[in-house]
Amino acid sequence: MDRLAVSRQLLAGFVLTLVAACSGGRAASKSPVPAATRGTDGVGARAMTFPVLEGFEAAVGRGTRSRTGAPGPRYWQQWADYKLSAELNPVSKRMTGTGTITYSNRSPDTLRVVYVQLLQNIFAPSARHNTNVPWSVEGLEFGRVAADGTTLTAAGGEEPGYEVNGTIMRIRLPKPLLPGGKADFAFDWKLRVPPDGAPRGGQDGEVYYMNYWYPQMAVYDDVNGWQTDQYLGNAEFYMGYGNYDVSLTLPAGWLVTATGALQNPDEVLTEQTRARLDSARSATGIVHVVTDLDREPGRATTAGKDGKLTWRFRAENVRDVSWATSSRYLWDATNAAVGDRNNDGRPDTTLIQAFWRPEQKVSHWDESARYSRHSIEFFSKYLWPYPYPHMTAVDGPTSCGGMEYPMMTCIGGQWDTLGMYEVTTHEIGHMWFPMIVGSDEKRFAWMDEGLTQFDQSQSMDDFFKGFDDEARNRKNYLDFAATGAEVELMHHGDRFPSYNQYGVAAYYKPAATMVALRGVLGRDLFHKALVEYIRRWQYKHPTPYDFFDTFEDVSGRDLSWFWRTWFFETWRLDQAIDTVATVGDSLEVGLENRGRAPMPVPLVVTRADGHTDSLTVPVDVWLSGAKRTTVRVASQPAVKSIEIDPGREFPDIDHDNQRWPR
Ligand SMILES: [Zn+2]
Repeated sequence: MDRLAVSRQLLAGFVLTLVAACSGGRAASKSPVPAATRGTDGVGARAMTFPVLEGFEAAVGRGTRSRTGAPGPRYWQQWADYKLSAELNPVSKRMTGTGTITYSNRSPDTLRVVYVQLLQNIFAPSARHNTNVPWSVEGLEFGRVAADGTTLTAAGGEEPGYEVNGTIMRIRLPKPLLPGGKADFAFDWKLRVPPDGAPRGGQDGEVYYMNYWYPQMAVYDDVNGWQTDQYLGNAEFYMGYGNYDVSLTLPAGWLVTATGALQNPDEVLTEQTRARLDSARSATGIVHVVTDLDREPGRATTAGKDGKLTWRFRAENVRDVSWATSSRYLWDATNAAVGDRNNDGRPDTTLIQAFWRPEQKVSHWDESARYSRHSIEFFSKYLWPYPYPHMTAVDGPTSCGGMEYPMMTCIGGQWDTLGMYEVTTHEIGHMWFPMIVGSDEKRFAWMDEGLTQFDQSQSMDDFFKGFDDEARNRKNYLDFAATGAEVELMHHGDRFPSYNQYGVAAYYKPAATMVALRGVLGRDLFHKALVEYIRRWQYKHPTPYDFFDTFEDVSGRDLSWFWRTWFFETWRLDQAIDTVATVGDSLEVGLENRGRAPMPVPLVVTRADGHTDSLTVPVDVWLSGAKRTTVRVASQPAVKSIEIDPGREFPDIDHDNQRWPR
């Protein structure tokens, strides 16, 4: 999320002076709670210990997780089928909703209560939040809540019923939900759409970005059980997978786009619009499906009944559904090659769409479909074939900044071409983390934001040929590390003392850390491990330990020292060339580890004849406790310069002391 906040605050160099309004340090308890440390439990001698999660160790014991990083033989995950209908009145800015959820209990546990997320309640008058919400609206107001056909009342106690606490509803079931069983829930609700200024969505003039608009099952997982953390605004989400059938009723003439494939184009789109949309599926260029001339009812959409149209969408195996609508949208479309995603030996494509207001051409929305196509094609090659039927960029309220939803991004604000590509490719990168690989964004923001920030750099390098976005991430991390205010990565997203500390730990440091890991493993091995992590955890819920263990499993290396250093500590890296002396026909190079972070030392010796030699001092030198070591290189042909890590893969705090001569 929140490319806007992060890039404005950090890239603009406000790091030292600006404390963001969204300071998240209210909760006192710490996270995660280490039960013990790794390295003493019979998994083999490890170079360094690091904390483990109690819940993870127990899950390994039960066989739902493993020590190889793959899901355990008894891994399970909950499932939900949603049937949701909503009608939005753009005049009153009110939405009414009705829906059912069939919740499948695939856990081995009998559930007597379930939890439901009501994320829009962050806007309710009584809500707590740690981001700036300048006004309040009602949140989700329920007319009816029912479980297995029994209407429930909002009351405390032990009887069947429900209670709402902030953004979490707790339902006491009429009968226990047994392992392998299903429970049916029914809801009627309404909400007033929050105006621009709402984080991640809302209403701005004739544009509505509808997020978190329905009651959604909270995650119950094999490691921590129910995830019932409040949505406070800063930390993002943890969501389970399911299928969604969604019906959305709007005035005719309003275009609607949503997570999922449109099921009834014949009912809502005119023949002209359908023909153009169909042509986009095989076009080489960008097709203007709806132009400035097409927006009256009967031109882009059909006339509807009583002036209304109901758009039906179906989404499979997604963790959320959002939608957007406007009477003023232009609609561009094309397609992107995603590789062979269903293994039938034939290449597949996905539909690419952009919905935007004409005045946003100034922010390069006329390039949006092209940027999205390039992003989807790049990530499909680099990471994993894009699995969904479309990818759609939506021009939304300014306060969206950049925000990801399955198959959708909401992008608001003003952008130059570099910024527009950056925000587009970043949010599209999130289709892999956390949409396909469904991690807990609240507790481990680096697992989606950090990996996506790294992936963004790969995409920008591919699009702008040689643009060094990795250097920007590294600089943002190192500038902040130099202040000494850093907080370790393994930290709950709502419990950072300030937004800057969250931003560095969620985005820039993990992105720089991924580059460092690539430097340690080499490009091919790193990439193989990253793709294997996706393969193992697609549509599942990995923890950081599944990530760590997968990289160790694929590489066959003990990387405990790396995880400890970069994820659990704020140790800084400062490798220096201390002395260079002639000894016989050698040069003896004295190397010092001046920071606490242990890393291998990649050394490049450049000769007067232009020839270079590369050697690497292994990390083990430092792990044994040494702070200083020497290496010898032949003194002839004459040595012109010696440099540690000239490619700057490792985020060293002082590059000046890495060169000789200085
Ligand atoms: Zn992001």
